Amino acid sequence: MKAVIVPSKGSSYRLEQVKEPVREKGQVKVKVLRAALCYRDLLQLKGFYPRMKYPVILGHEMVGEVIESDGEFKVGEKVVSTLYAADGSCRFCISGDESHCLNRLGYSEELDGFFSEYAMVRPQSLVKVPEGVREEDAVISPCVSGMIYAGLRRAGLKPGELVVVTGAGGGVGVHAVQVASALGAKVVAVTSDKEKLEVLGKYVSNVILGSKFADQVGREADVVIDTVGTPTIDESLRSLRQGGRLVQVGNVDPTSKYELRLGYVILKDLQVIGHASANRSDIEAAMRLCAEGKLRAVIAGIYGLDEIDRAFSVLLSRSRVGKVLLSPFKE
Ligand SMILES: [Zn+2]
Ligand SMILES: [Zn+2]
Repeated sequence: MKAVIVPSKGSSYRLEQVKEPVREKGQVKVKVLRAALCYRDLLQLKGFYPRMKYPVILGHEMVGEVIESDGEFKVGEKVVSTLYAADGSCRFCISGDESHCLNRLGYSEELDGFFSEYAMVRPQSLVKVPEGVREEDAVISPCVSGMIYAGLRRAGLKPGELVVVTGAGGGVGVHAVQVASALGAKVVAVTSDKEKLEVLGKYVSNVILGSKFADQVGREADVVIDTVGTPTIDESLRSLRQGGRLVQVGNVDPTSKYELRLGYVILKDLQVIGHASANRSDIEAAMRLCAEGKLRAVIAGIYGLDEIDRAFSVLLSRSRVGKVLLSPFKE
């Protein structure tokens, strides 16, 4: 089968013919219908993920069709996968908080990922896609919409609260704006890109252009979802009211540091929540929002595996809004 592999640490990806995986008992084999590109792929290619095995199939976001399985998931069913395989047995797994599994293995890290025609997944990673949810909406639910849903759950968001989303024109931001609105928040979108204003206007009435936004927000935000990182975190913290919560999901430049003044965090009673993943229940909740028409994936383009270079260039160009998808069986 065709797959996008990373042969060794820090090396570029390659499209190759690899052996189709043979299912072992307890695993589920899926045909990949859609996979999604993510900034995490770029960080993985740069070698920032120390647990990656090599060679590894890249990609951690997919919706697929079950083609071989032992039971719970039936042949023909559509499923999405969490970004990791939890062991299903530790205290976090038992309490339904499997994203904090003590023994989790990551797809595209210790396990092969999803930029391939077929993939092998653990059943404890899978979530069924409900009727009426499009493949485009399903594929973004583990790493984007469900992840944001989980971040707002962890931040204890209440309806009517003010949520600021930085990097709102990005692949995560444009969905964070929708998820927060769907949960009843008042949303302010922040973007540094004038070109993104029009698209954002479809989802949110209050958009701030530029890098200084705390004063415009009035320093009254209950929650900030920061999808950018070091370029925005200072203004994000300043935007928060006394007792506000920062959900930090973005880190565009992992080599740059931010000097956090603890006195500021302490005296302002702030919560800083580092956040990356989602439980299956969060993914289900995000797909439910799609089924209810409250959330719709914004897609920048869909490419075949042999168009992977093009797909990455669209991801990097930031000229288009939305997620970049792969369709391994695209004609
Ligand atoms: Zn991702
Ligand atoms: Zn576990």
